[in-house]
Amino acid sequence: MANPQKIRAEVKKIASYGQGVYRIVFKTEKKFPRFKAGQFLHLALDTFDPTTGFWPESRVFSIASCSDDRKEVSIVYSVKGVYTKKMEKALSVGSSVWLKAPYGEFIISKYLEEDETAVLIAGGTGVSPFIPFLRQSGTSNKIQLNYGLRNKDLMIFENELTAVLGQDNFYLNLYLEEMSDKISISGNITVKEELLSVNNILDDVQDKEKSFRP
Ligand SMILES: Cc1cc2nc3c(=O)[nH]c(=O)nc-3n(C[C@H](O)[C@H](O)[C@H](O)COP(=O)(O)OP(=O)(O)OC[C@H]3O[C@@H](n4cnc5c(N)ncnc54)[C@H](O)[C@@H]3O)c2cc1C
Repeated sequence: MANPQKIRAEVKKIASYGQGVYRIVFKTEKKFPRFKAGQFLHLALDTFDPTTGFWPESRVFSIASCSDDRKEVSIVYSVKGVYTKKMEKALSVGSSVWLKAPYGEFIISKYLEEDETAVLIAGGTGVSPFIPFLRQSGTSNKIQLNYGLRNKDLMIFENELTAVLGQDNFYLNLYLEEMSDKISISGNITVKEELLSVNNILDDVQDKEKSFRP
Protein backbone atom coordinates (compact mmCIF):
# COMPACT_ATOMS: atom_id res chain seq x y z
CA MET A 1 0.00 0.00 0.00
CA ALA A 2 1.20 3.50 -0.84
CA ASN A 3 2.59 5.49 2.11
CA PRO A 4 0.15 8.19 3.24
CA GLN A 5 1.14 11.64 2.02
CA LYS A 6 0.17 15.07 3.28
CA ILE A 7 -1.02 17.36 0.52
CA ARG A 8 -2.35 20.90 0.46
CA ALA A 9 -5.51 21.32 -1.57
CA GLU A 10 -7.93 24.02 -2.55
CA VAL A 11 -11.70 23.73 -2.76
CA LYS A 12 -12.58 23.83 -6.45
CA LYS A 13 -16.29 23.09 -6.30
CA ILE A 14 -18.99 22.54 -3.68
CA ALA A 15 -22.33 21.01 -4.53
CA SER A 16 -25.06 21.14 -1.92
CA TYR A 17 -27.72 18.43 -1.98
CA GLY A 18 -29.73 19.93 0.89
CA GLN A 19 -30.14 18.53 4.41
CA GLY A 20 -26.47 19.16 5.16
CA VAL A 21 -25.09 16.88 2.46
CA TYR A 22 -22.26 18.22 0.30
CA ARG A 23 -19.91 16.99 -2.38
CA ILE A 24 -16.59 18.81 -2.50
CA VAL A 25 -14.01 18.68 -5.27
CA PHE A 26 -10.48 19.61 -4.21
CA LYS A 27 -7.69 20.67 -6.51
CA THR A 28 -4.48 19.30 -5.03
CA GLU A 29 -1.16 21.14 -4.99
CA LYS A 30 0.65 18.02 -6.20
CA LYS A 31 -0.52 14.69 -7.54
CA PHE A 32 -2.85 12.87 -5.16
CA PRO A 33 -1.31 9.51 -4.17
CA ARG A 34 -2.48 6.39 -5.93
CA PHE A 35 -5.26 4.78 -3.94
CA LYS A 36 -7.49 1.73 -4.08
CA ALA A 37 -11.24 1.85 -4.27
CA GLY A 38 -12.66 2.12 -0.76
CA GLN A 39 -9.73 3.93 0.81
CA PHE A 40 -10.17 7.14 2.76
CA LEU A 41 -8.44 10.43 3.45
CA HIS A 42 -7.99 12.70 6.47
CA LEU A 43 -9.16 16.28 6.05
CA ALA A 44 -7.81 19.07 8.25
CA LEU A 45 -9.13 22.63 8.11
CA ASP A 46 -6.17 24.04 10.06
CA THR A 47 -2.77 24.44 8.44
CA PHE A 48 -0.30 21.60 8.69
CA ASP A 49 3.21 22.85 9.39
CA PRO A 50 5.74 20.33 8.01
CA THR A 51 8.49 21.81 10.23
CA THR A 52 6.72 20.66 13.41
CA GLY A 53 5.15 17.57 11.86
CA PHE A 54 2.08 18.09 14.05
CA TRP A 55 -1.07 17.00 12.24
CA PRO A 56 -4.06 19.17 13.26
CA GLU A 57 -7.51 17.86 14.19
CA SER A 58 -9.10 16.14 11.22
CA ARG A 59 -11.91 13.82 10.19
CA VAL A 60 -11.80 10.95 7.74
CA PHE A 61 -13.83 10.72 4.52
CA SER A 62 -14.04 8.07 1.84
CA ILE A 63 -12.36 9.01 -1.42
CA ALA A 64 -15.36 9.31 -3.72
CA SER A 65 -13.49 10.07 -6.92
CA CYS A 66 -10.18 11.16 -8.34
CA SER A 67 -9.44 12.60 -11.76
CA ASP A 68 -7.22 10.65 -14.16
CA ASP A 69 -4.36 13.16 -13.73
CA ARG A 70 -4.76 12.80 -9.92
CA LYS A 71 -4.97 16.58 -9.44
CA GLU A 72 -8.60 16.52 -8.34
CA VAL A 73 -10.18 14.44 -5.63
CA SER A 74 -13.69 14.51 -4.21
CA ILE A 75 -15.48 13.58 -1.00
CA VAL A 76 -19.09 13.60 0.08
CA TYR A 77 -19.93 14.57 3.62
CA SER A 78 -22.94 14.94 5.80
CA VAL A 79 -23.09 17.55 8.57
CA LYS A 80 -23.38 15.73 11.92
CA GLY A 81 -21.27 16.94 14.83
CA VAL A 82 -18.62 19.47 15.72
CA TYR A 83 -16.17 19.14 12.87
CA THR A 84 -18.54 18.74 9.97
CA LYS A 85 -20.45 21.81 11.22
CA LYS A 86 -17.13 23.66 11.14
CA MET A 87 -16.50 22.39 7.61
CA GLU A 88 -19.89 23.62 6.46
CA LYS A 89 -19.08 27.13 7.75
CA ALA A 90 -15.43 27.30 6.76
CA LEU A 91 -15.34 25.78 3.30
CA SER A 92 -16.04 27.80 0.19
CA VAL A 93 -14.50 27.82 -3.28
CA GLY A 94 -10.81 28.77 -2.93
CA SER A 95 -10.49 27.64 0.74
CA SER A 96 -7.35 25.80 1.63
CA VAL A 97 -7.30 22.44 3.41
CA TRP A 98 -4.78 19.70 4.15
CA LEU A 99 -5.38 16.13 3.08
CA LYS A 100 -3.58 12.99 4.22
CA ALA A 101 -4.04 9.78 2.24
CA PRO A 102 -4.45 6.99 1.42
CA TYR A 103 -5.68 4.99 4.40
CA GLY A 104 -7.62 1.79 4.87
CA GLU A 105 -8.05 -1.46 3.09
CA PHE A 106 -11.07 -2.45 1.06
CA ILE A 107 -11.69 -6.15 1.38
CA ILE A 108 -14.31 -6.92 -1.25
CA SER A 109 -11.99 -7.97 -4.08
CA LYS A 110 -9.75 -9.83 -1.65
CA TYR A 111 -12.40 -12.20 -0.35
CA LEU A 112 -14.74 -12.51 -3.29
CA GLU A 113 -14.48 -15.94 -4.88
CA GLU A 114 -15.10 -16.54 -8.55
CA ASP A 115 -18.87 -16.83 -9.24
CA GLU A 116 -19.79 -15.22 -5.90
CA THR A 117 -22.04 -12.16 -5.79
CA ALA A 118 -20.89 -9.06 -3.93
CA VAL A 119 -23.82 -7.69 -1.91
CA LEU A 120 -23.12 -4.05 -1.08
CA ILE A 121 -25.19 -2.12 1.46
CA ALA A 122 -25.04 1.64 1.79
CA GLY A 123 -27.08 4.45 3.27
CA GLY A 124 -26.65 8.08 2.24
CA THR A 125 -23.05 9.25 1.98
CA GLY A 126 -21.97 5.70 2.89
CA VAL A 127 -22.12 4.81 -0.79
CA SER A 128 -18.97 6.89 -1.48
CA PRO A 129 -16.38 4.10 -1.12
CA PHE A 130 -18.36 1.88 -3.50
CA ILE A 131 -18.25 4.40 -6.35
CA PRO A 132 -14.54 3.99 -7.19
CA PHE A 133 -15.02 0.23 -6.73
CA LEU A 134 -17.85 0.16 -9.27
CA ARG A 135 -15.88 2.34 -11.68
CA GLN A 136 -12.57 0.49 -11.37
CA SER A 137 -13.58 -3.04 -10.52
CA GLY A 138 -13.65 -4.59 -13.98
CA THR A 139 -14.77 -7.72 -12.14
CA SER A 140 -16.90 -10.40 -13.73
CA ASN A 141 -18.52 -11.07 -10.33
CA LYS A 142 -22.12 -10.05 -9.93
CA ILE A 143 -22.56 -6.95 -7.81
CA GLN A 144 -25.81 -6.05 -6.05
CA LEU A 145 -25.95 -2.62 -4.44
CA ASN A 146 -28.69 -2.00 -1.84
CA TYR A 147 -28.74 1.74 -1.42
CA GLY A 148 -31.00 3.67 0.96
CA LEU A 149 -31.73 7.39 0.69
CA ARG A 150 -34.12 9.85 2.24
CA ASN A 151 -35.16 11.07 -1.19
CA LYS A 152 -34.05 11.22 -4.79
CA ASP A 153 -32.49 14.69 -4.39
CA LEU A 154 -29.81 13.08 -2.21
CA MET A 155 -28.74 10.72 -4.99
CA ILE A 156 -25.34 12.31 -5.36
CA PHE A 157 -23.78 9.73 -7.63
CA GLU A 158 -26.58 9.48 -10.15
CA ASN A 159 -24.24 9.85 -13.15
CA GLU A 160 -21.76 7.31 -11.84
CA LEU A 161 -24.51 4.78 -11.02
CA THR A 162 -26.26 5.34 -14.32
CA ALA A 163 -22.98 4.56 -16.06
CA VAL A 164 -22.81 1.08 -14.51
CA LEU A 165 -26.54 0.27 -14.62
CA GLY A 166 -26.21 -1.04 -18.14
CA GLN A 167 -23.70 -3.67 -17.10
CA ASP A 168 -25.11 -7.19 -16.96
CA ASN A 169 -23.28 -7.95 -13.71
CA PHE A 170 -24.61 -4.96 -11.77
CA TYR A 171 -27.98 -4.57 -10.05
CA LEU A 172 -29.22 -1.65 -7.94
CA ASN A 173 -31.98 -1.84 -5.32
CA LEU A 174 -32.75 1.78 -4.53
CA TYR A 175 -34.69 2.42 -1.31
CA LEU A 176 -36.27 5.85 -0.97
CA GLU A 177 -38.00 6.97 2.22
CA GLU A 178 -39.86 9.58 0.18
CA MET A 179 -40.77 8.60 -3.35
CA SER A 180 -40.61 11.23 -6.04
CA ASP A 181 -41.56 11.30 -9.68
CA LYS A 182 -38.08 12.48 -10.64
CA ILE A 183 -36.63 8.98 -11.06
CA SER A 184 -35.38 8.94 -14.61
CA ILE A 185 -32.70 6.29 -14.41
CA SER A 186 -33.32 2.95 -16.00
CA GLY A 187 -31.49 -0.33 -16.44
CA ASN A 188 -30.90 -3.00 -13.81
CA ILE A 189 -32.69 -1.16 -11.05
CA THR A 190 -35.64 -1.60 -8.70
CA VAL A 191 -36.87 1.46 -6.85
CA LYS A 192 -38.75 0.86 -3.59
CA GLU A 193 -40.50 3.30 -1.28
CA GLU A 194 -39.25 1.72 1.91
CA LEU A 195 -36.55 1.97 4.52
CA LEU A 196 -33.40 0.01 3.85
CA SER A 197 -33.96 -2.53 6.61
CA VAL A 198 -32.25 -5.80 7.49
CA ASN A 199 -35.36 -7.74 6.40
CA ASN A 200 -35.48 -5.96 3.07
CA ILE A 201 -31.81 -6.60 2.48
CA LEU A 202 -32.23 -10.31 3.34
CA ASP A 203 -35.12 -10.58 0.86
CA ASP A 204 -32.99 -8.87 -1.78
CA VAL A 205 -30.09 -11.19 -1.13
CA GLN A 206 -32.34 -14.24 -1.46
CA ASP A 207 -33.81 -12.80 -4.64
CA LYS A 208 -30.48 -11.74 -6.00
CA GLU A 209 -30.04 -14.46 -8.57
CA LYS A 210 -33.40 -13.50 -10.05
CA SER A 211 -32.23 -9.88 -10.29
CA PHE A 212 -29.57 -10.48 -12.89
CA ARG A 213 -30.16 -10.98 -16.54
CA PRO A 214 -29.82 -14.63 -17.58
C1 LIG B 1 -13.43 4.92 7.24
C2 LIG B 1 -14.39 6.07 7.43
C3 LIG B 1 -14.91 6.72 6.33
C4 LIG B 1 -15.80 7.77 6.48
N1 LIG B 1 -16.30 8.37 5.38
C5 LIG B 1 -17.19 9.38 5.52
C6 LIG B 1 -17.74 10.02 4.36
O1 LIG B 1 -17.40 9.69 3.21
N2 LIG B 1 -18.64 11.03 4.56
C7 LIG B 1 -19.03 11.42 5.84
O2 LIG B 1 -19.86 12.33 5.95
N3 LIG B 1 -18.51 10.83 6.92
C8 LIG B 1 -17.60 9.84 6.81
N4 LIG B 1 -17.08 9.25 7.92
C9 LIG B 1 -17.43 9.80 9.25
C10 LIG B 1 -16.57 11.05 9.54
O3 LIG B 1 -15.22 10.71 9.67
C11 LIG B 1 -17.00 11.75 10.85
O4 LIG B 1 -16.90 10.88 11.91
C12 LIG B 1 -18.41 12.25 10.76
O5 LIG B 1 -18.51 13.12 9.68
C13 LIG B 1 -18.79 12.99 12.05
O6 LIG B 1 -17.86 13.98 12.33
P1 LIG B 1 -18.30 15.26 13.15
O7 LIG B 1 -17.11 16.09 13.48
O8 LIG B 1 -19.39 15.94 12.44
O9 LIG B 1 -18.91 14.64 14.45
P2 LIG B 1 -18.29 14.57 15.87
O10 LIG B 1 -18.56 15.83 16.61
O11 LIG B 1 -16.89 14.07 15.82
O12 LIG B 1 -19.25 13.44 16.45
C14 LIG B 1 -19.30 12.12 15.87
C15 LIG B 1 -20.73 11.60 15.93
O13 LIG B 1 -21.15 11.45 17.23
C16 LIG B 1 -22.32 12.24 17.43
N5 LIG B 1 -22.19 12.91 18.70
C17 LIG B 1 -21.38 13.94 18.97
N6 LIG B 1 -21.51 14.27 20.25
C18 LIG B 1 -22.43 13.45 20.78
C19 LIG B 1 -22.97 13.28 22.06
N7 LIG B 1 -22.63 14.07 23.07
N8 LIG B 1 -23.87 12.29 22.23
C20 LIG B 1 -24.23 11.51 21.24
N9 LIG B 1 -23.75 11.59 19.98
C21 LIG B 1 -22.85 12.55 19.78
C22 LIG B 1 -22.39 13.27 16.37
O14 LIG B 1 -23.73 13.63 16.10
C23 LIG B 1 -21.74 12.55 15.27
O15 LIG B 1 -22.70 11.77 14.59
C24 LIG B 1 -16.19 8.18 7.80
C25 LIG B 1 -15.67 7.54 8.90
C26 LIG B 1 -14.80 6.48 8.74
C27 LIG B 1 -14.25 5.79 9.96
